[in-house]
Parts: sequence; C-alpha cells; structure tokens
Amino acid sequence: MSSSYGGRSAFERLRVRLDERPHACRGCGFVDDAGGWEAATTGATVEYRRECPSCGTEHVRRYQL
Ligand SMILES: [Zn+2]
Repeated sequence: MSSSYGGRSAFERLRVRLDERPHACRGCGFVDDAGGWEAATTGATVEYRRECPSCGTEHVRRYQL
C-alpha cells in the first residue's frame, strides 16, 4: 500500500477540498458537514456524488484528473 499512483494525489486533494467546507443542499438548504461524498472515477474524470439526507436531492461534482 506504499506505492503511489500518478492520479492518486490529485484524487485525494479534490476530496479534501470537497470535505473542507460544509455542503448546503440546493433543494432544501440543509447543511450537512459530515463530508459524505462518494467518489467514482472513469480514469480521465472523477465524480463525487452525495444525496441530501433531508430531501434526497442528488448532488454531483465532476473534475478532470
Ligand atoms: Zn435537501
């Protein structure tokens, strides 16, 4: 587990950036500071998704790696 992939650090950096500020829901305004983003990568892009625990609105952030 000590080897490092090229994209790994960027991947982690993006997650830290998402988690460092509380997320306010677009739909209901619920602020969730639990940092529950789920990541999925396709190689060239990474997608972070989370669902609002209050109203169920899905939020997606997409980044180029
Ligand atoms: Zn909501």
